[in-house]
Amino acid sequence: MNSSIRRKILIDRMEEISLKNLNCSNCAGTCCTYEANSMMVTPLEAFEIFEYLKSSGRLDEALREKLHKTIKDFRLDQSFGNGKRSFIRRTYTCPFFHHQELGCALPMEIKPYGCLAFNAHHETIKASEYCYSEKDILEKRDQSFYEFEESENQKIKIKFNLNWDKLPLPLALIDFFDQ
Ligand code: SF4
Ligand code: SF4
Repeated sequence: MNSSIRRKILIDRMEEISLKNLNCSNCAGTCCTYEANSMMVTPLEAFEIFEYLKSSGRLDEALREKLHKTIKDFRLDQSFGNGKRSFIRRTYTCPFFHHQELGCALPMEIKPYGCLAFNAHHETIKASEYCYSEKDILEKRDQSFYEFEESENQKIKIKFNLNWDKLPLPLALIDFFDQ
């Protein structure tokens, strides 16, 4: 099933918010930096980004180094040490953030669901103070595609020998990179 269809409810909501002038235009992108970002993704979300990067010729050594540097700088690979790959949720500056207004390098159609659901909700100079994730819309999306995505996640886990259900985006991508 097309990745855009599974994100449509979130993209439509973003556009609705934007039409009300509640947008990110006054913000430097706080939600993509270590100040507020602790985004974790499923195997399917990571795989969709990986395939997009591959098809657009961006899977190069520079990106691999950037992912490793982010993992090291923000200590994303420190686990609980219980044998299962289950990680402490940490904040990090996303390697796809350009450090400018509207600075995400990924298209809407493959962005993590959590990124799409996190929006500004107040027209103000300091927009980031009025931003939050709309959990009800996220849950509605999750429920609508639950069976399909569960099945896809299982297939990807088996194919790439993954032992995790959710990881911070840089760690998840490195698992595909290193295959
Ligand atoms: S959602 Fe909020 S914190 Fe993120 S870029 Fe927009 S205004 Fe800034
Ligand atoms: S994927 Fe894009 S929107 Fe999400 S945290 Fe990274 S830069 Fe921000």
